[in-house]
Amino acid sequence: MINLDTPRKHRQLVEQAHQVALNMLRPISRKYDLAEHEYPKELDLLAAMIDGLSESGASSGAGASGVRREERADDGSVRNGTNLASVLSVAEMCWGDTALLLSMPRQGLGNSAIASVADPEQAIRFDGVWAAMAITEPGTGSDSANIRTTAVKDGDEYVLNGEKIYVTAGGRCEAVVVWATLDRSAGRAAIKSFVVPKGTPGMRVDRLEHKLGIRASDTATIIFEDCRVPAANLLGSPDVDSAKGFAGAMATFDNTRPLVAAMAVGCARAALDLTRELLEDAGVVIDYDRPAQVQSAAAARFLQMEADLEGAQLLTLQAAWLADNRRPNSLEASMAKAKAGRVGSDVTLSCVQLCGTLGYSEGELLEKWARDSKILDIFEGTQQIQQLIVARRILGLTSSELR
Ligand SMILES: Cc1cc2nc3c(=O)[nH]c(=O)nc-3n(C[C@H](O)[C@H](O)[C@H](O)COP(=O)(O)OP(=O)(O)OC[C@H]3O[C@@H](n4cnc5c(N)ncnc54)[C@H](O)[C@@H]3O)c2cc1C
Repeated sequence: MINLDTPRKHRQLVEQAHQVALNMLRPISRKYDLAEHEYPKELDLLAAMIDGLSESGASSGAGASGVRREERADDGSVRNGTNLASVLSVAEMCWGDTALLLSMPRQGLGNSAIASVADPEQAIRFDGVWAAMAITEPGTGSDSANIRTTAVKDGDEYVLNGEKIYVTAGGRCEAVVVWATLDRSAGRAAIKSFVVPKGTPGMRVDRLEHKLGIRASDTATIIFEDCRVPAANLLGSPDVDSAKGFAGAMATFDNTRPLVAAMAVGCARAALDLTRELLEDAGVVIDYDRPAQVQSAAAARFLQMEADLEGAQLLTLQAAWLADNRRPNSLEASMAKAKAGRVGSDVTLSCVQLCGTLGYSEGELLEKWARDSKILDIFEGTQQIQQLIVARRILGLTSSELR
């Protein structure tokens, strides 16, 4: 049975993350939104604190690397593990600032990819390495099976050639998890991921993007020209097994989509919390003991948004909880991402609307949260792609049968 309260063992972590968000992220939020591409140096101290907490066991494995499926005896007991801890803490940090969370050293989506599919030796070798995730290419976005970056085996190495765009933390990270194909004619089954450390000859950061939101987070184009990586840096099996198809690479998404959903939940909750204060200051009463339709339009809209956000949050917790309990969660991960991405954008923009001039101006962070939350409905699979995946799973259709 799933219990919808925050598990007692994770409450301290949630409170710590909330304090960090309130006292360390919020105060520098606007500064780095305005200073796009400037590295938020304050994060170094914070990252060191997070490392210290992990090492001491105080926040056992939460964060980007907390999404590993742990081996354990199936004794039928229910577990609230690191996947749940990760989504809870990530939501709190994004209540502080989504872009800064995405800029946190050693907490990249590449770290989640490594945690999801690395073998035990690789997990140790890449422990503590700040890793970004590079899937998207100039001709490949939603259709990730169409990847053109190639990886050719040459002795004990693979030789990578291709261009990756829109790599979050691509400029600042220490390594990039690159998706490349071993054989384009073999389709999805030949797509593998490789950990490429920064400084590897043949790899270069080409440019950084200017963006609508998450401006504190750097977004890079990275070029690979005859870039050689050790064969041991291939994550998962090197075999091209058409029966398993994309399974290895897609396992990453089952773990990262709930994390992105949690980011959307945290950012939207920040907007709702501030909107409640501003509405109350303006004399709007939000009454939980009376039906929404007999209250003011602003109060009714607020209640509706809270309910939507709670739905998104519960789906997110469910997807993470299933992973903790070693159950399949692809459907639930996509449901959570679809719902939270849509609700996050809707709630943050509606909060701007409800607060009028206060919502739209830079005096408050509401307009920033509306800009920041949009990306959470786009990366790690857009809203439309998540709905497609959900439909395929429910109807039992393959990707070629429903596109
Ligand atoms: C700020 C930012 C950070 C990013 N970070 C990363 C990162 O770290 N790593 C990485 O690899 N990528 C990253 N991306 C890329 C992101 O994952 C892609 O933008 C996303 O997957 C969509 O791909 P696309 O932009 O090519 O859009 P397209 O795939 O061209 O889609 C365009 C539109 O068509 C819709 N669409 C496409 N196919 C279908 C369909 N079959 N049915 C219905 N609708 C469809 C989409 O939903 C979308 O609305 C980032 C992007 C941004 C903007």
